[in-house]
Amino acid sequence: MSLGSHRHTRPVEAKCDIKNCTQPAERSFPKDKVQNILTHGLKDDVGRRAFLCKEHYKEYRKKTKTERLTDRLGWAEPRG
Ligand SMILES: [Zn+2]
Repeated sequence: MSLGSHRHTRPVEAKCDIKNCTQPAERSFPKDKVQNILTHGLKDDVGRRAFLCKEHYKEYRKKTKTERLTDRLGWAEPRG
């Protein structure tokens, strides 16, 4: 796959790499990371980067955010 001169920053034809998901991909992340965070399982033919659709990206972000928050529990933020 060559990058060519296209200016699109996201792959146009890529599909989400989560098993049983057929949504178009929004973003890609290192496969290892996705595997650790999303436990749905990835398709068999995933390369070094896993593509995520909007929904799974949202989920991925939510979970990474949680991780980060847990990481710095030093300052508890009061929330209504
Ligand atoms: Zn998906």
